[in-house]
Amino acid sequence: MNIALFLQMSADAAPDRIGLVCEGKHWSYAELLAGARGAADLIRKSGCTNVALLDESSAAAVMTLFGAALAGVPYVPLNYRLADKDLAGLIERITPAFIVGDIERVDRLYSSSDNQLYSRADFIAAAVEAGKTASEEETEGDGVAVQLFTSGTTGAPKAAILRHSNLVSYILGTAEFASAPEGTAALVSVPPYHIAGTAALISSIYTQRKILMLPAFSPEAWLELASREKASNAFVVPTMLSRIVEQMDKGDAPDLSSLRSIAYGGGKMPIELIRRALDLFPETGFTNAYGLTETSSTISLLGPDDHREAYESDDPKVQARLGSVGRPLPTIELEIRDEEGRAVPVGERGEIYVRGEQVSGEYRERSALDKDGWFPTRDAGYLDEGGYLFLSGRADDVIVRGGENISPGEIEDVLLTHPAIADAAAVAVPSAEWGEAVGVAAVVREGHAQPGENELKQLIRDRLRSSRVPEEILFTPELPYNEMGKLLRRKIKTMFSSD
Ligand code: ATP
Repeated sequence: MNIALFLQMSADAAPDRIGLVCEGKHWSYAELLAGARGAADLIRKSGCTNVALLDESSAAAVMTLFGAALAGVPYVPLNYRLADKDLAGLIERITPAFIVGDIERVDRLYSSSDNQLYSRADFIAAAVEAGKTASEEETEGDGVAVQLFTSGTTGAPKAAILRHSNLVSYILGTAEFASAPEGTAALVSVPPYHIAGTAALISSIYTQRKILMLPAFSPEAWLELASREKASNAFVVPTMLSRIVEQMDKGDAPDLSSLRSIAYGGGKMPIELIRRALDLFPETGFTNAYGLTETSSTISLLGPDDHREAYESDDPKVQARLGSVGRPLPTIELEIRDEEGRAVPVGERGEIYVRGEQVSGEYRERSALDKDGWFPTRDAGYLDEGGYLFLSGRADDVIVRGGENISPGEIEDVLLTHPAIADAAAVAVPSAEWGEAVGVAAVVREGHAQPGENELKQLIRDRLRSSRVPEEILFTPELPYNEMGKLLRRKIKTMFSSD
């Protein structure tokens, strides 16, 4: 099955229902389908083998995504925030491509007559025009639906490939968590080049929602749009939620009573922030969604009931679940494995492996699946007795001190219990004695005095093994995160070496 069928089904069932609100224009489902068919026509005629979007979210994102699906070529949303040299390399990798968006930049970075370029406005106009006469061609086969370059948090971006079957399984597998009565509106503020942004478009179209597109996130714009258009659902990354909460704490709290659900993910959610959000939005259900590009997004969920239960419980084990990413979806098999690839017992840390129809694990150049179809996420974590998954950082971020493996997450969790520590990151620093040792970068909470290094070391010594005590602690005004809320540990490491 092709993802474009979701748009066809929704347009057949509710042609006049509004499917998208963007740039002041309302698009019905029938109009979106016609635009996607028009886009498919243009794409087919171009003979290009990829459809790229180098742009913020707009109607063009919906039309290129579904137009590419109808035309049977991969949709490749590109990260417009990348530096010129990185972006040029990606454009070269996907040429010959049909490219929509910032075409002046494309021309400047990688000029090729094999590419067909359209500005956003020209493309939308051309797709709408072509849509008036476009045919209803059926598309079959399990080709590549989306090619997404991963965020590049741990190294060079990888070209992850998602087939129609991966995305369809994901959408159908999560449909029960996304049920949307008529007229519900999903606020999409995540950019198209991230899997969460693309998955949000497909699932909103499948559930016949009205997509409220917020191309450039700011907390003021998010609150205004959510309140004016009566958003019922939203997805945010933790840094967005932090800025929304900050804005509301300043007294800017419009009527958000329509907001039934806020899902978040993409990076680690600080427990204190989610507690504050639960206070501010007492009627809203929160969902922590954990996933990767290679798994078509969400593979485990901490749902609204789990949030409230953990928030209200007196039992420390249940309370701790507010820091977990919940339980795997029913359609996902999940195992925690040690370095030899053996499954470890409950409570023990290891690398997270997943298997399921939505898990692609495929890159342009190779597949990362093992012979039994398991995908190594490169995330480290453990399961508790209730089957809740706790992440403890990237497997690549593990600090190996004299042969002992230390997860940064265990040290950070302890530091964050100190009232004067607002944020903390533990990384490997070179050590003549141990090979690697623990370095900590910490942010002091506003209005608090900077705690002494010895006090923080003692806190860790009291709670964890002595090998976890940092060799070096430095204080910094803030930690480096990318726009998707991912902690950039590579940058933190350089803070130590430049000292
Ligand atoms: P690269 O693979 O190029 O380093 P990336 O892995 O950051 O990039 P993504 O696929 O965007 O690219 O990110 C997936 C990662 O984001 C996961 O492996 C996990 O580490 C983190 N992540 C996703 N959701 C959550 C969540 N809910 N809580 C904590 N971390 C999360």
